[in-house]
Parts: sequence; C-alpha cells; structure tokens
Amino acid sequence: MSEHDVNMTVSEHDVVNPATEQVVQTVVQADLDRTDEAIARAEAAGGPWREVAPADRGRLLRRFSEVVDSHLEELAQLEVANAGHTIGNARWEAGNVRDVLNYYSAAPERLVGRQIPVAGGLDVTFKEPLGTVGIIVPWNFPMPIAGWGLAPALAAGNTVVLKPAELTPLTAIRLGELALEAGLPEGVFTVIAGKGSVVGERFVTHPAVRKICFTGSTSVGQRIMRGAADQVKRITLELGGKSANVIFDDADLPAAAAAAPMSFLDNAGQDCCARSRILVQRNVFDRFMELFEQAVLGVVVADPSRESSQMGPLISSAQRETVRSYVEGSAEQVDVAFRGKAPGGDGFWYPPTVVLAHGTTERVWREEVFGPVVAVLPFEDEADAIAKANDTQYGLSGSIWTRDVGRAIRVSRGIQAGSLSVNSHSSVRYSTPFGGFKQSGIGRELGPDALDSFTDVKNVFISTS
Ligand code: NDP
Repeated sequence: MSEHDVNMTVSEHDVVNPATEQVVQTVVQADLDRTDEAIARAEAAGGPWREVAPADRGRLLRRFSEVVDSHLEELAQLEVANAGHTIGNARWEAGNVRDVLNYYSAAPERLVGRQIPVAGGLDVTFKEPLGTVGIIVPWNFPMPIAGWGLAPALAAGNTVVLKPAELTPLTAIRLGELALEAGLPEGVFTVIAGKGSVVGERFVTHPAVRKICFTGSTSVGQRIMRGAADQVKRITLELGGKSANVIFDDADLPAAAAAAPMSFLDNAGQDCCARSRILVQRNVFDRFMELFEQAVLGVVVADPSRESSQMGPLISSAQRETVRSYVEGSAEQVDVAFRGKAPGGDGFWYPPTVVLAHGTTERVWREEVFGPVVAVLPFEDEADAIAKANDTQYGLSGSIWTRDVGRAIRVSRGIQAGSLSVNSHSSVRYSTPFGGFKQSGIGRELGPDALDSFTDVKNVFISTS
C-alpha cells in the first residue's frame, strides 16, 4: 500500500499559501486506524531494513540525496507556496535535506562499537537500531527538521514514520514519494499527514514506536515527554528559544548592526534560534540603535517568490494574531522604537518591529514571540550581560559580538545555551550538534552524535574458556 492509500480516509485539510491566502492543495488527514496501519507497515519493514548491508544502506541514502537534489527547485517552489518561505531560503532548505542525507549516508559503515578488555573472553559493543522512530515536524522549517530526524534514523537502521504539521505537509509528502523513487523499500520511510492530536499522539501511545523526535512548542514537548514516560520511550525534543544577541562595546559595531536584522527576521522570525533579545553595552547603545534602524529599514519584506525578498509573511492568521498580542494587543505598555514596512492586502504580513525593553520582566522580553519582533535592552558589563542572557527558561542559541578573544570564550562558556556563535549568527550546520539547554529541549540533532540517539548500545561477552 502506498502513502496515498494511507491518507485515503476521513477528514481533509486545505493547505493555504500564507502570502496570498489561496488554497494550494487539499490534503487528506489520516485517522487513528490509518496511523496504526502505517506504523504496522513500518514495523514490518524494520527487520529487512536492518538486514540491508551497511554499504547498501549507505548507497540507498546517497541515492535518496541525489533524487532530492534533482528535485531541488520543485521542492523549493512547493515550500514557497506552502510555508511562505523566501525562495532563497527554500532552496537552501531543500539543499539541506540533500546534504543531511548525504552526510548520514556515510554512517551505516561507520557505526562502530568497541572492544573492551575483560577477563575470560572477548567483550564487544554493538549500536543497535531502536525500531520504528516517530518524527513530529512543526510548520516553521518543514524540510530541514524532517531531514534532521529521518536521515540519521534511517542510517542507524531504524524505520521512520513522519508527521508533518497540518499547515505545511506538502514538501514532506513529496519527500516520501522521492524516497520510494530512490529505491528505499516500502514502509522504511512513511509520511503520515494528519493532526497532532491524532497522528502525533498515536506515535506517543503506540508501543511499536520506540522513539519520538519532536520539534515544536514547549507545552506540546512537555506533554510528549510525560506520555513517553509510560513506555520509557526515547525522546529528542527541540523546543522554543529566546536567544540573546550580546553586543559589547569593543565589537565591530557596523558589522553587528548589519547582521542583527536577519538574526530575528529570517523566516519572519518563526525560528527557534531567532535572536529575539538584543543586549547592547550601554556606552554604545545609542550608536548601535542608529545603525540598527538603518539596517532594519533596508530589509526587503515582499512576495517570497521574488528573488530579492528577504522576509515573507507569517504562516497563518492565528500566528499573526499571536505576534500582534505582544505589541499592539499587549496589556503592558510596549515601547516600539521603530518598525519596517510590510505589504498590505492578502497574506499574513507583519512588519519588522523593534521594541525597547525596560527590564527583564516584560512579556515581549521573556516569551517566544515567533514573529518579526525583537526587544533591545542595555547592559553594564560582562557579568551583567551573562546574567541577563541567562535570565530565561530557554537555552537554545545566541550570539556574542566582541573583538576580545578571551571575552568571547568566557561569555560563550557563561551563557547557558546549546549553540552559540561569535561575531556571526550561524546556528545550524549539518556536521555539528544542535539542541537546547534548559527548557529548549533534550538531546542533540545533527553532527556525529545524533546517531547515538537513534541506537541503543548492546554489550556482548564471549567466553574464551
Ligand atoms: P505545536 O507544538 O503545537 O506543533 C508542532 C508539531 O506538533 C506539529 O506537527 C503539531 O501537529 C504537533 N502536535 C500538536 N499537538 C500534538 C500532540 N498532542 N501530540 C503530538 N504532536 C502534536 O506548535 P504550534 O504550531 O502550535 O506553534 C505554537 C508555538 O510553538 C509557536 O508560536 C512557537 O512559539 C512554538 N514553536 C516552536 C518551534 C520550534 O522550532 N522550536 C516550532 C513550531 C512552534 P499539527 O500542527 O498538525 O497539529
């Protein structure tokens, strides 16, 4: 049975282009029975998949990567229409799926265990696949987040059932088709479109799903963690963020100001790594704000299919209302420093908005807005910067701007976050680990370590007596 058959049931969901509010496609949602059938097929495919020779499993993943590459423009255009991502970003995202598959295609032949010296025999360890892995993907980065889960999971010998977000299922569904085209056996990677409360919940409660990889809100992550406890199910959680961009007085201020806009406006701010809190040393605060304003006003907010567009719309009308509630609709007095422009008319547009914070207690300073809104606050010295950066429940990423190498290292060690960058805003490379401290999550994706979270270590002792 193919993925299309899996989805031939019950309710339908209209996928809307967030830049035009037009329906792009109608997707059939799987119900509980169809979800169970897909999980059963994934489980049945598990035995034969783990028996595929490591080199052949690697070859299949490389072929999958090549097929993604040959459909890169199609996938990118689909994401522009479905998620409102700028075409430049969408091409990068499809390319990221290709690269992550290619990176982990080397893993099956390198999943080495250890030989441990013991008395009376030979002791060896094996990295065994877990079984079926459930991946729950949010709407903000539908392609990369799917790839970060599925590629290492498959490489380690697991089968995968993947639930895209209701709002953005199209590229995931296409990736499921491309996997079959690349020669992955039926059932090894299955995309199941449906609701979080149905398909996602079933991944948590179904005993055959041995691990959940979840990216999304902290509240749903907490719920999944509670549910997983019933079966001691493995979990990786990538949750929210409220990352700090810390700018010291010895920084290259024009460079810091030029880079700051896209650190919170990329993907219209719907980015768990968004540097949505800017901390600026007090003696350069005014100068930074002047440079920053010019830079924000220069950002092109426009139809995401245009090559020049740097920021598109928000994902939905509901998300725009959420974002608004932090600025116009806030019960607190919100001090807007300046705003950029956004198109009017159809589409879920919201302008780049820079807010002056007056302390660390305001809602816009503390909560994840998940939109093109940043709050700026001065700090006094290094200790104050670290204390303010850490005054949050989150700990995903952050940036430090300084020319002092010692300070860069001290502050990097002092900030409680999983992924920091100095004099840049890069967070994610497929070859390096990514994940959060504190309530930003559990576990690490990407890089060499991700494979460990898709395997269990087995120890075998062989007596020589
Ligand atoms: P959710 O956490 O609700 O959604 C993320 C994914 O989880 C979706 O695929 C969703 O399915 C699924 N899901 C929802 N409920 C359950 C459940 N009970 N069991 C299993 N899976 C479930 O995020 P929202 O879309 O509601 O976004 C709300 C806020 O969360 C944002 O404003 C932002 O602050 C944060 N967020 C953070 C992300 C990150 O990258 N860390 C990503 C997305 C959101 P479906 O959508 O189909 O219902």
